[in-house]
Amino acid sequence: MIPRHSRTTIEEMRPVGAFVASVLTTLKSRALPGVNLLELDALAHKMIKDVGADSCYIDYHPSFGGSPFGKVLCTSVNDAALHGLPHDYTLQQGDLLSLDFAVSLHGWVADSALTLAVGGHPTPEDQRLIDTCERALLAGISHARSGNRLGDISAAIGAVSRGGGYQVNTDFGGHGVGRTMHEDPSIANDGAAGQGPKLKPGMVFAIEPWLMENTAEVFTDVDGWTLKSVDGSRSAHVEHTVVITQGDPLVLTARD
Ligand code: MG
Repeated sequence: MIPRHSRTTIEEMRPVGAFVASVLTTLKSRALPGVNLLELDALAHKMIKDVGADSCYIDYHPSFGGSPFGKVLCTSVNDAALHGLPHDYTLQQGDLLSLDFAVSLHGWVADSALTLAVGGHPTPEDQRLIDTCERALLAGISHARSGNRLGDISAAIGAVSRGGGYQVNTDFGGHGVGRTMHEDPSIANDGAAGQGPKLKPGMVFAIEPWLMENTAEVFTDVDGWTLKSVDGSRSAHVEHTVVITQGDPLVLTARD
């Protein structure tokens, strides 16, 4: 059963979406060569405290995690694809960095991610990976419309990803968002259009394509959390929290 939220609730969700967007915008501007991942996590933590929000990550301890996450931000660098546990690492020019951030504010959650080339000037290969991931996200969002089916979102993401020549991992993907970070449904990053539950106004989804350059397979790093590409491929990951409305999709985590 996919939860549906009232218009009043959707209005209540706007502040957390805007907050998550603002934190990612700040972190993006600070993620420069010479900055340590732990500094970015600390900055995000301070911003959380300043507004009285709650991290969705710090106590997160699912069956696949070795221990509670312990940080408020996912920092996935280069061959790290998802769930990157911030550690003592100083960013270098040209690193491909994904930041994934989710909090609860006034009882509602928003979840968003971006990928950037540290110091700018990405290689053409990195730029294409980021661009394809962002186009896949936009394609997924554009199909997040009342009357469509869940599979339409998956199919749209998959078509752009595969169209870019990338393989798609369907083990980790998007999800419903509400009072908690992970709610029904799960949203695979590839699938068949016209399949699955019908989309209705008030559903709220985190849509999150991620791609690795030459593989779709990951393994868990010794830290117990970070998922890395099996072949050292570099990775990109982007995400927005999106509301199905009567009309156009509403992106709660849109950045200026
Ligand atoms: Mg996320």
